[in-house]
Amino acid sequence: MDMALDRTQLMVQRAVRAFARETLEEWANVLDRESRPLPAEIVAEMGRINLWGIQAPVRYGGAELDTVSYAIAIEEISRVSAAVGLGVTVHNSVCLAPLLKFGTPDQIERFVPDLASGRKIGGFTVTEPQAGSDAASIQTTAAPDGDSFIINGQKAFVTNGGVGDLFLVAATLDPAKKARGIAIFIIEKSMPGFQVGKIEDMMGMRGNMVSELFFNNVRVPKDNILGRPDEGFRISMQTLDIGRIGIAAQALGIGEAAFAAAATYAAERTQFGKPIGTFQAVSFKLAEMKTRLDAARLLVCRAACLKDRGLPFSTEAAMCKAYASDAAMRVCREALQVFGGYGYVKDLPVERFFRDAKITEIYEGTSEVMNIIIGNAIMKEFGRM
Ligand SMILES: Cc1cc2nc3c(=O)[nH]c(=O)nc-3n(C[C@H](O)[C@H](O)[C@H](O)COP(=O)(O)OP(=O)(O)OC[C@H]3O[C@@H](n4cnc5c(N)ncnc54)[C@H](O)[C@@H]3O)c2cc1C
Repeated sequence: MDMALDRTQLMVQRAVRAFARETLEEWANVLDRESRPLPAEIVAEMGRINLWGIQAPVRYGGAELDTVSYAIAIEEISRVSAAVGLGVTVHNSVCLAPLLKFGTPDQIERFVPDLASGRKIGGFTVTEPQAGSDAASIQTTAAPDGDSFIINGQKAFVTNGGVGDLFLVAATLDPAKKARGIAIFIIEKSMPGFQVGKIEDMMGMRGNMVSELFFNNVRVPKDNILGRPDEGFRISMQTLDIGRIGIAAQALGIGEAAFAAAATYAAERTQFGKPIGTFQAVSFKLAEMKTRLDAARLLVCRAACLKDRGLPFSTEAAMCKAYASDAAMRVCREALQVFGGYGYVKDLPVERFFRDAKITEIYEGTSEVMNIIIGNAIMKEFGRM
């Protein structure tokens, strides 16, 4: 994000860029190769510079920044390590943000300070083995029992699952009611019956401990329902709108890293006595990569600005997510091509960028689902004419 940024946004960009280069860079390949999480001391350091509470109010230990600054931070982290960027964006935008937006004052007091400081890491889980894009068909149940609910079920692909302390969990009070039967529960790792399952062995994002979660008769106090019991699905959809700006910023960061690597290489690598960047076939690739990334940046900026102004941004978030993830994939594919055979080996990070980019087209709503959202908005607008 560098289009007419204000002083604070520029400061955030400089500070997060420096942190990512000085501290995360040396870890990025290690996390990917060994599929392991960041060391605790770096997680704590990220807390000290407010990366776990980017938009949380200062009184709860956050940085209280705007959404453009948030997107800048995610982009800068993801340029260096997309897996770390994933952990940060999910914690901030689909755990902390809905808690602040829909939580009661008591819930905010109880949960936000630990999350905003990074003392606790958060996640958000809707997906189940048989319920992905069709999120309303979840089967994890919540049965009322006195002042509590008893939660039973299984969640799949939970970002931060293996390291998280607190999760927003979608469960159904009545499967027959589909979306209207879904509630969101605030569930802590320490609750009896909470179990972390398999850590996924993934193609990319290998530094995030994405896992299964199991709930075996987990007793959750009624006070831990987020919002009204019948509005869990609506909360989930609004939460994902926020999350998609973060995923788009992540895609942008990965694409920018791949582009910078390819452009540098094209200027240095000579074949037939000339830098390969002087061949039109290569320079046109770079031109197209740069244009796509700038277009993605503008879409991310627009969605973030709309959100900051309190205006509707759901369609714009879907557009920026669909476009930026597609741009990241294309840019990474072309960057790898610019590197030739050297792009295909693990000595250089280009193949990691390529592997990391792919998932941005899938999680927090696939590109097909983004097009459904955008298409529905178009029909709504033109159907009224
Ligand atoms: C690394 C990773 C991290 C994740 N983190 C989380 C998390 O933290 N929390 C969470 O809840 N989930 C998470 N997910 C799950 C992710 O959001 C889902 O994988 C995604 O929503 C797609 O669901 P699915 O995999 O079941 O695919 P499906 O829904 O089965 O889709 C398969 C294919 O069918 C297409 N399709 C489905 N329905 C339609 C339709 N109506 N029209 C057109 N095409 C359609 C899809 O676009 C896709 O191409 C994560 C996944 C991964 C891999």
